[in-house]
Amino acid sequence: MRLADYTTIGLGGPARDFVSAGTEAEVVAAVQAADAIGGPVLILGGGSNLVVADAGFDGTVIHVTTRGLSRGGDGVTVAAGEDWDAVVAWTIAEGLAGLECLSGIPGLAGATPIQNVGAYGQEVSQTITQVRAYDRTASAIVTIPEDRCGFGYRTSRFRRSAGRFVVLSVTFRLAGQPFSEPVRYAELATALGVAIGDRVASAEARSAVLELRRRKGMVIDPADPDTRSVGSFFINPVLDAAALAAVEAAVRARCGEGTRVPRFDAGGGLVKVPAAWLIERAGFSKGYSLGDGARISAKHTLALVNSGSATTAGLMALARQIRDGVRDTFGVSLTPEPDLVGVAL
Ligand SMILES: Cc1cc2nc3c(=O)[nH]c(=O)nc-3n(C[C@H](O)[C@H](O)[C@H](O)COP(=O)(O)OP(=O)(O)OC[C@H]3O[C@@H](n4cnc5c(N)ncnc54)[C@H](O)[C@@H]3O)c2cc1C
Repeated sequence: MRLADYTTIGLGGPARDFVSAGTEAEVVAAVQAADAIGGPVLILGGGSNLVVADAGFDGTVIHVTTRGLSRGGDGVTVAAGEDWDAVVAWTIAEGLAGLECLSGIPGLAGATPIQNVGAYGQEVSQTITQVRAYDRTASAIVTIPEDRCGFGYRTSRFRRSAGRFVVLSVTFRLAGQPFSEPVRYAELATALGVAIGDRVASAEARSAVLELRRRKGMVIDPADPDTRSVGSFFINPVLDAAALAAVEAAVRARCGEGTRVPRFDAGGGLVKVPAAWLIERAGFSKGYSLGDGARISAKHTLALVNSGSATTAGLMALARQIRDGVRDTFGVSLTPEPDLVGVAL
């Protein structure tokens, strides 16, 4: 069982044991059985945020394939194994708003709280009310309210606790309305022809997001080789005022006095700087490759792509070169967004 067949980037060697779990009871039983043996466990959803070693995974992979969607008023509870984009489409069809900007993100619902999935001004932390999970430390099913999920930018308590919680279902509170939540992202507002803060029909927001994402190779499409990726490979660095000033000085030295570093407000006096901008200015352009099948997407500098013949080792070598180039040029340390299994940057 090659994990390459279960990851969107098409990389990863064999799993020692592979279990497909289609009900909550099967998920819990599989985790308990693996924990009883004491070996490593990897919970697998859609494999869209995973980089697995060429040597594979010397432990038990549990593939979560549970299904189920239920609605009670404006609350929606989704089984971990439901396809995320289908969930978003369903909520819009139900006249519920709050997830429309998260259209087109690959993977399964159960993974969305792990890195607090976000795009185009929305994050799941804005609408999640609780997460049900199997707690491997307590050997019990627990319900964790939103304020105890520890959500942050591309992180959560689930991600930080490295495998302790196996998500079984996620509950969202959405707004019962046919129009979107206020548009917060400038690029999306421009595409929709509205101002920041305006609302549009939720279906219209979804279409615009999907169109923007397709142009960047961010919607999985077997016909588009630029989508054989894990999405963004690096997290956008969040900088305080002193760190930003240092980057601005380095940028002026490299790119000229008039060059302005783009930024987004990240709250608390912090700013988020687009990693893609830094990577390009450090000299890595779209399509760049070390010549072994791993390359930067031709559509988006932040995505690293397996053009067909890549290995995980080659992908990581490319990622290291980019990380080192950005650090040497601008003094910024980029961190990877996907979970790395059996490899390190
Ligand atoms: C083309 C493309 C575009 C993307 N765009 C975005 C984007 O816009 N925004 C964004 O935030 N992400 C984006 N991603 C990343 C990815 O789609 C999300 O992180 C997604 O939520 C991962 O879901 P998955 O089911 O594929 O998880 P997997 O890749 O299978 O797993 C990811 C991690 O979550 C853990 N996990 C999975 N399911 C469970 C569970 N039930 N319980 C406990 N742990 C679990 C895994 O062990 C692993 O550590 C993109 C990826 C691709 C390929």
